[in-house]
Amino acid sequence: MTYFKQWPGLIKAYEKWLPITLKTPIITLQEGGTPLLALKYINELIGKNVKVYAKYDGLNPTGSFKDRGMTMAISKAKEAGCKAVICASTGNTSAAAAAYAKKGDMRSFVLIPDGYVAQGKLAQALVYGAEILAIKGNFDKALKIVQELANNLPVTLVNSVNPYRLEGQKTAAFEIVDSLGDAPDYLCIPMGNAGNISAYWMGFKEYFNAGLSKKLPKMMGFQAAGSAPLVLGKTISNPETIATAIRIGNPVNKEKALTVKKESDGKFSGVTDNEIIKAYKILGKEEGIFCEPASAASIAGLLKIKDEIPNNSTIVCVLTGNGLKDPDCAINNNDALFKSGIEPDIEIVAKSMGF
Ligand SMILES: *Cc1c(COP(=O)(O)O)cnc(C)c1O
Repeated sequence: MTYFKQWPGLIKAYEKWLPITLKTPIITLQEGGTPLLALKYINELIGKNVKVYAKYDGLNPTGSFKDRGMTMAISKAKEAGCKAVICASTGNTSAAAAAYAKKGDMRSFVLIPDGYVAQGKLAQALVYGAEILAIKGNFDKALKIVQELANNLPVTLVNSVNPYRLEGQKTAAFEIVDSLGDAPDYLCIPMGNAGNISAYWMGFKEYFNAGLSKKLPKMMGFQAAGSAPLVLGKTISNPETIATAIRIGNPVNKEKALTVKKESDGKFSGVTDNEIIKAYKILGKEEGIFCEPASAASIAGLLKIKDEIPNNSTIVCVLTGNGLKDPDCAINNNDALFKSGIEPDIEIVAKSMGF
């Protein structure tokens, strides 16, 4: 990889690996290049000689990995002369679609499940000027509608069925190998529509086939127990979980995900909302990392399968989204000491501090 004084965005950084041409207008907010953080406390909880890292993709421009896919999808839509994009979203896709569409001077239409989008994500779609349609139904219903609309109207679909999304998202795997010097032994990742796990696998395989890594990771996918179609092997008509970003009962990339599991000798498991919140709190309190609940599913999953992990393994957990996306979850799920109604007096404040 070339050294840049300023990270140029993932298309420029990995251009020879991506389906772009000299004619492709690059629509970017300089996404990608996110930190790979060593997790000391989680490492100790695993209780073996392992190395655990978090790929903190919540530090992308709109706060989730969706930016990786969106820079590609919007650039290719722009190249094709498209004037408007559409998506169904549990929140993060709409935030990313709205931001990149504006950057590319396009309209964005987003269909969201009424009442099930976290506050921060809704705020983003509003501020980025998306045209928001909240429907009385869940994500799966919204996706059916946008697929139909994109077939009949001059709007481009930017959900993860759009192949350019996965092309952009695969760069996260490149970054991990570039940082570690090889692929990890395990990749732990939350799954909703399972686009991201498919994109990572594509990235790891491309680097491996080019001789840039010596191994391929086992892909460990995690879903919320109340929303686990890929674990249970059947569509869930009423998925429920606190992790709204993965509240999906009928994943569009189901077939791809099953292939990833098989090819990588990986495993899919469910984690309960309690386990997700426990991991979410640990990340905040012990590691200084604030992620959204869906992202904590990767850590919850790792803690659940820790006995299966052999000594000397390297593990990367993907933290897909930023904690600021879902302030309600944070305010309702923490162990903070919060004292209110304190008089503005030095002695009283000092006393309240325990001194
Ligand atoms: C979209 C999203 C997921 C799920 O990714 P898929 O590609 O749908 O499996 C997980 N976490 C967050 C924060 C997301 O925004």
